[in-house]
Amino acid sequence: MKRRDFVKSVGAGILASSAVTAALPQNSFGADKKVRWRMVTSWPPGFPILQTGAEELAKRVGELTQGRFTIQVFAGGELVPPLGVFDAVSQGTVQCGHSASYYWAGKSPAVQWFTSVPFGLNAQGMNAWLYYGGGLKLWEEVYSSFGLVPRPAGNTGVQMGGWFNKEINTLSDFKGLKMRIPGLGGKVVKKAGGTVVLLPAGEIYTSLERGVIDATEWVGPYHDLRMGFQRVAKFYYGPGWHEPGSVLELIINKKAYEALPAEFKAALDAAAAETNVKMLAEFEQKNSKALSLLETDGNIKLKIFPDQVMIGLRKLAKEVLSQEASKDPMAAKVHKSFKEFKTRLNKWSILSEKAYYTTVAG
Ligand code: CA
Repeated sequence: MKRRDFVKSVGAGILASSAVTAALPQNSFGADKKVRWRMVTSWPPGFPILQTGAEELAKRVGELTQGRFTIQVFAGGELVPPLGVFDAVSQGTVQCGHSASYYWAGKSPAVQWFTSVPFGLNAQGMNAWLYYGGGLKLWEEVYSSFGLVPRPAGNTGVQMGGWFNKEINTLSDFKGLKMRIPGLGGKVVKKAGGTVVLLPAGEIYTSLERGVIDATEWVGPYHDLRMGFQRVAKFYYGPGWHEPGSVLELIINKKAYEALPAEFKAALDAAAAETNVKMLAEFEQKNSKALSLLETDGNIKLKIFPDQVMIGLRKLAKEVLSQEASKDPMAAKVHKSFKEFKTRLNKWSILSEKAYYTTVAG
């Protein structure tokens, strides 16, 4: 879409709703001026950590502005479909959303690096790259052409590798394996000879129970326990090589963002950064607690993928990422930045985090 057309469509989108028009900021801002925004998310109503975290973000904006800037939050499906967030915010139907950028790979392949890529950076690494390694600038560049502004606003931490009904000892154990695993991780499993099955959340449990699929990934112990997978699969594998630290996003309509007075912009940015920290902390706390519960509910075996399997998958992941990067110049640019940053950070991580964790685990 051309810039001019885009601006026009945003205008039309915003003007279509009189409630939103009334809330649009004016040029001069008195202390009594109020801004009311709407946020749509990709999460089910009440979905713990993600939807509740988005609601907390909105609440914080209100608190930081003494109630002068409020955001009403709508869960996935309430105002627009869960995966309609990008279009709704880009077109100005609403001013912001909470989601994950890799859902928008169809819009631009480059966006995948801003959530998580197989064998990519963990949460700490993603924050380092985004905030100080040029990652967020690239993300802004990609989103700018869609009339959007991104902000990191949450992280899942290292996810789990998933639930399997058989042991995974070698890479060839993926041959013929029917696994529910979306995105780039799915492309890697496919390269390893597996069959990738895409299922909505509500159908995963019964599909695993009935043998329609042999394996599935989901999130981590806390959300997996709620799904009840421990009752229908035996082997629970870590780590989530395909999602080592998935970043959640606050996705903002650029025109609406730029129209905000400086103090409201600052409040929104601060609330996003706060959510980025707190959501990860909540994931870590709830996952560690759920892990103990999982071990007692159901007869499961906790496993870590053998080194040989990880090395094999990592090689395939490299091929998948190169293919994705070759899809357009922006993806290539983002991939290059990410790869260089990761290579440098790895050297430091081996000496610091890795060495420390080895001691701690020991
Ligand atoms: Ca996942």
